[in-house]
Amino acid sequence: MRMLKAALKRMIANFYIYFGYINRAKKKIIKSDSVVSIYFHNPSFKTFNDCMQWLIDNDAVFLGPGDLLSFQSNPKNTSKLKVLITVDDGWRENLLNIVPIAHFNKIPVTIFVSTEPLIEGGGYWWSYIKKALKNGYTTCTIPFLKTIPNQNRLSIVNHLKSFIQIDRESMTVEELKSIAISPYIQIGAHTLTHPILTNCDDDLVAKEIIQSKTVLDAILPAPVNSFSYPNGDYSEREINILKKNGYQIAFANTPGLIHLNAKMDLFRLPRFEILDHAPLNENICRMLGVWF
Ligand SMILES: [Zn+2]
Repeated sequence: MRMLKAALKRMIANFYIYFGYINRAKKKIIKSDSVVSIYFHNPSFKTFNDCMQWLIDNDAVFLGPGDLLSFQSNPKNTSKLKVLITVDDGWRENLLNIVPIAHFNKIPVTIFVSTEPLIEGGGYWWSYIKKALKNGYTTCTIPFLKTIPNQNRLSIVNHLKSFIQIDRESMTVEELKSIAISPYIQIGAHTLTHPILTNCDDDLVAKEIIQSKTVLDAILPAPVNSFSYPNGDYSEREINILKKNGYQIAFANTPGLIHLNAKMDLFRLPRFEILDHAPLNENICRMLGVWF
């Protein structure tokens, strides 16, 4: 079944490529002065490198969040494919699989880091759930836990954390410091504990948004001004707190291109998700929004 699904996905991706959908999408994106906004989590070296090489071969120009901020005062039109790359969570493997490629090719990459895994346990909450499910310690699935009030999710996660151990998945503080000095790596906030913000009460949302910036600002050479919503979930409440607390830009997970115009909403920036282990042809389709 799995092999059949993979074969079918390959066929769909190849169909889009061979029948010109990719070329047409690329031309349309350039003509409309839009930015291809893509995000990764924990890609393999091959996945990330193949995507970057494809973009380089297609003569892409790479933007950072700062370019979007300055766009409104200084609009620039180019006849090239514009691309903005973000990465969520702060996975330790990003150090080997993303940072050297970004550095070598001079590609700006913004990594959004959740600070609790960085500083404390090193594990993301959903990894405890995955292990618990595998060992039969819980029947609660990750999608289910994303729908319940945060208190309830936390009590289940904390109970499992009391006896399940997982290896470090997040970067350490020292590792984060070492990559933050690169001119191509920018760090943004991704809350303290990676909750679903829309399932949290007002006080907790404020704490998650404000303190994650405080923690990162104390570690990093420059203050953090960008944010990505965990799981892409946000409301007007989260945007207001971000705006009042020193953030200038925030990324959602809504699939879409960023349209460079005066109406661009800097706190609801869309992104296309690139799958960590999908074959290149599928990810090409995803990057250009032909398939998402
Ligand atoms: Zn995340």
